[in-house]
Amino acid sequence: MSVWAILVAAGRGERLGSDQPKAFVKLHDLPLLAEPMRRLDESEWIDAVVVVVPTGWEEPAILLAEELGCAKVRASVAGGETRADSVRAGLAEVPDDAAAVLVHDAARPLVPEAVIERVLAPLAEGWDGVVPGLPVPDTLKRVDGDGRVAETVARDGLWAVQTPQAFPVETLRRAVSGGGDATDCAGLVEAAGGRIKVVEGDPQLLKVTTADDLARVAALL
Ligand code: C5P
Repeated sequence: MSVWAILVAAGRGERLGSDQPKAFVKLHDLPLLAEPMRRLDESEWIDAVVVVVPTGWEEPAILLAEELGCAKVRASVAGGETRADSVRAGLAEVPDDAAAVLVHDAARPLVPEAVIERVLAPLAEGWDGVVPGLPVPDTLKRVDGDGRVAETVARDGLWAVQTPQAFPVETLRRAVSGGGDATDCAGLVEAAGGRIKVVEGDPQLLKVTTADDLARVAALL
């Protein structure tokens, strides 16, 4: 049973304030993409990796994989307008005989091996997808445009969901074929009626959106 990973890195990352795409801003002395690429490549659960980057960055991504000795990186393809479009582009590179696919945001560079194992294991029980998450610790309020609190939202049962997310290949292919969009892949599978399981995530899987997040990830490396 082969497991393919799709590393989605085609976002522009405008809130980072760099003229380069987010995946290519420097984290210490390498592009941000290097850390999640190396971690997926070194995972004992993953057989092959597809990298999805902004148009024009396919070759720099392959050169980076070669420089890092990431031999499992099989393809580097251009992403699309939305995250779902980028996942579709990556999935086109995954062969039909692959058993499972793991989709990971390059914007979460610190992916622990234990989380990769935790999201893949329950697929054997017949789930349509498995996602890592953490219960929301803060009090949640819905706020109007003028800064006024409209309501306090009960946080019982609310989880903040991360990546990597794991799916049987055919399930994800069907879910993305509809052409819809969602902020994560599980959302597409849910919309197609799929059953998704949540397993324990990791605070290290924080997402780089701003320059402060980048500094926080750099400090954890
Ligand atoms: O924009 P967002 O924070 O949802 O991005 C999450 C991940 O999806 C990032 O790693 C980003 O590079 C990727 N993405 C993509 N193609 C897009 C938008 C986002 O690969 N069109």
